[in-house]
Amino acid sequence: MTYSIWHQRRCQAQQIDVAIIGGGISGLSAAYWLQKHAPGRRIAGFERGEIGSGASGRNAGFMTCGSIAHFDRQRTNLGAETALELWSMTAENHRLLVSEGLLNSACDYAKTGAFSLSRASTRVESLREAVEVLRTHGATVRHVSAGEAPLPEFAGGYWYEGDGQLDPLRLLGALREASNVAWHQGTRVHQIQPTSDGVTVETDGGAYKATNVIVATNAYAPEWLPELAPWVRPVRAQALVTAPATRPLRAPVYALDDWAYLRQDAHGRIILGGFRPLAADEEVGTRDLLHPRVHAALDAFLDRHCRDLFDEAPRVQRRWSGALGYAPDALPIVGELADHPGCFFIGAHSGHGMGWAFVAAQRLAALVLHGTRPGLLDARRLPGHEGG
Ligand SMILES: Cc1cc2nc3c(=O)[nH]c(=O)nc-3n(C[C@H](O)[C@H](O)[C@H](O)COP(=O)(O)OP(=O)(O)OC[C@H]3O[C@@H](n4cnc5c(N)ncnc54)[C@H](O)[C@@H]3O)c2cc1C
Repeated sequence: MTYSIWHQRRCQAQQIDVAIIGGGISGLSAAYWLQKHAPGRRIAGFERGEIGSGASGRNAGFMTCGSIAHFDRQRTNLGAETALELWSMTAENHRLLVSEGLLNSACDYAKTGAFSLSRASTRVESLREAVEVLRTHGATVRHVSAGEAPLPEFAGGYWYEGDGQLDPLRLLGALREASNVAWHQGTRVHQIQPTSDGVTVETDGGAYKATNVIVATNAYAPEWLPELAPWVRPVRAQALVTAPATRPLRAPVYALDDWAYLRQDAHGRIILGGFRPLAADEEVGTRDLLHPRVHAALDAFLDRHCRDLFDEAPRVQRRWSGALGYAPDALPIVGELADHPGCFFIGAHSGHGMGWAFVAAQRLAALVLHGTRPGLLDARRLPGHEGG
């Protein structure tokens, strides 16, 4: 972006210590920890829409370590030790949000546990070893027979006690209130420019000079910072909500065969999302679009598995989509931008931002303030990084 001489006064860069770009769970969590550990710093947040206009205000509200099948995949791909460390970090994310007083009834939070269910008994059986590894690690995971499953037509599965559910937008509100950082909403950042004494942040509302910049724009990051394209793949996901059900759903459910997930909110409504693999090649990018084939599959799922929760046929009240960022190895990313000294990235939570962002942001704050490396989340593992 260029400026005319008439804009010059506006262009006099305001001095701040930290600029945070992106008002989702990543940006707000980063603001929270930076403010908590360095309260004297001048921190400003920039959000091009409203707080939560990205995926953080569009998700299903699972506070989760992921399904048992997710753990099993990580165990196969990364080894049991790494998979357990990742599982522990997401459990820690949940614990930290509670102990910091951010997850409570004000955001419709409940610790419910979650079911991982399959229609195929062979699939249920194939997860038994992963469950044993989790149990040895101290996790409470219980086998669920077909009769105990909360929905019909499932052969069974597992129930894990540690997960919960929440209203994600209310959690963002709690984080914002607790961190007391000034957020400039409706303010898009166009570019960040390293200079000899910091970083210039050029926004719709003028320029800022910051010592450090946190990029937390997730799926949208490669649109304005092309160097992040190898780290963040933007994909789209779909969700819907029904009118209130007549009967309760005992806990959130991962329906493993369909890559679907559902839960019941505080008003009794069923929130259902998933079926991405049905249109994996089409569900890419950041455009806000409903995908007809995916929504037809979501409707069919409601008919097949959720009829018992309703007296009448389930009625859909609203449908929406959201753009999220996937890392090449599906692990969140925390680290410096190779070409921008003083600038850091947090995001690419790969479908589980509610379950990851708070603990990832704690590690980000330790990296920014003390140079402590963020362990498994370290961006140095990725291509295009100095150390990678
Ligand atoms: C349908 C759906 C269901 C999901 N369900 C769950 C779930 O149940 N549990 C779970 O853990 N995760 C879930 N996720 C994933 C989760 O929502 C994301 O991982 C998480 O919200 C990512 O948070 P973020 O802050 O990194 O990104 P975002 O929330 O996308 O925030 C990025 C922000 O940056 C802003 N921005 C972009 N460009 C600029 C710019 N140039 N200048 C200023 N601001 C900018 C955007 O407007 C946006 O608000 C789901 C996602 C979707 C779409």
